[in-house]
Amino acid sequence: VDRLTDKTALVTGSSRGIGRATAVRLAREGALVAVHYAANDEAADETVALIEKDGGRAFKVRAELGVPGDVHELFLGLERGLKERTGDTRLDILVNNAAVTSTGSAPEDLTPEEFDRCFAVNAKAPYFIVQRALGLMPHGGRIVNISTGVTRTAVPDQLAYAMTKGAVEQLTFQLARVIAPRGITINSVAPGITDNGGAIFDNADAVAAMSQFSAFNRVGEAGDVADVITFLTTDEARWITGAFIDATGGTLA
Ligand code: NDP
Repeated sequence: VDRLTDKTALVTGSSRGIGRATAVRLAREGALVAVHYAANDEAADETVALIEKDGGRAFKVRAELGVPGDVHELFLGLERGLKERTGDTRLDILVNNAAVTSTGSAPEDLTPEEFDRCFAVNAKAPYFIVQRALGLMPHGGRIVNISTGVTRTAVPDQLAYAMTKGAVEQLTFQLARVIAPRGITINSVAPGITDNGGAIFDNADAVAAMSQFSAFNRVGEAGDVADVITFLTTDEARWITGAFIDATGGTLA
């Protein structure tokens, strides 16, 4: 604890799942966390309450990504929240975590609308969030983009989704050298199957089947991935940039 004292962080999609677990850990390390979400007010409130119960600091920011004006709306709320609490708009840590899947459609059934939606939320929004965040980020800043193990093992039912995450990995890889002179790192973290609280994780048979993918024969907990993300935001990870970090519990091994 206390590795992020006086830092500020934005975690997109932190009302639930991996994003929530990440927000909780960053706050536990001392960061003031902006809990971003699309629509689920109650869940965002719950993340903030979890953080405050621990003695941490957080505020929620609502902005639906993948629609015109999305990133502007996000940063209006973010900058207002930071200013109220810290007196300025400095952002030390960005975790691009919010994403949608391509609805499980087989490649031959996916519609152009589903394809566009998936790219708008998963690839275009992170690009412009990074662009905007860099204007607020001081020396020593940290960016973590959440990808998926599915960019390294073929799962054709998630083809369009995998394509968006391939784009996110390029964002990481290409930008690392551009921002390194500012002491800012950018990395991708790839979860494998991770319990995000969704209904399927209450189904014992489904969980048993999903467990077989990991070398540890279980599904990931949100905290398993959040701990890896949190490490990358600390000073201890200053020598890692442009990297793809496998957080799949050995699924790719
Ligand atoms: P969840 O589906 O549990 O939560 C998604 C979060 O993103 C919520 O906070 C949601 O907000 C927000 N969100 C979704 N769509 C939008 C949108 N259009 N605009 C703004 N916010 C949005 O996520 P997971 O924890 O499962 O996944 C987190 C990340 O990890 C994602 O990038 C995902 O691709 C990746 N991943 C997850 C895996 C898994 O098995 N869980 C496996 C591999 C990768 P709201 O609550 O308001 O809806």
